[in-house]
Amino acid sequence: MPDHGDEDLTAAAYAVGGHSSRKTQPMPCSAVDEFCFFCEFEGNPKAVGSDTDLYGNLVDLATHLGSLHREAAHIANHLYEIYGSSIQMHIENQPEWTRESIIRHITNSGQFKTVFDTGVTHMFTNLIAKQNADLCDISTGMVIEDNRRAFCDTVKTFVGWRASLAKTGGNR
Ligand SMILES: [Zn+2]
Repeated sequence: MPDHGDEDLTAAAYAVGGHSSRKTQPMPCSAVDEFCFFCEFEGNPKAVGSDTDLYGNLVDLATHLGSLHREAAHIANHLYEIYGSSIQMHIENQPEWTRESIIRHITNSGQFKTVFDTGVTHMFTNLIAKQNADLCDISTGMVIEDNRRAFCDTVKTFVGWRASLAKTGGNR
């Protein structure tokens, strides 16, 4: 079990950035003083010191993996490897782009909506599994009505969420 401090009495139903980033607070890159390759070169992609469109290639990869509904942590691993092996060397001062910074950008910037949507879908499925675990009273074997109502409410909302994704092909 993780070590819970006094102010850490709640947990996410689904850790968007993977287990290690359970405590990561959702916030945009601009709120954090940490290098972000996507933010740094968004306005001027060609400024990366190479003839190849390194910025565009990486955005395309993230968009593609997002369209395949890959998890944010999985996409971040790919971007982290490619940035470190092929891009970092072309940038002045060669700053590190951390996995945490990558995840922050791809989930919170609004640039990759499918990554965010996939995260919400995982939150719903984990929430449903957690609520299912508390549906019945062990001693009586009876369904706990309040929990059943909350469970059905989650499922109903999830069905609506999936329908909205299907209607727009994921491009909301
Ligand atoms: Zn960013």
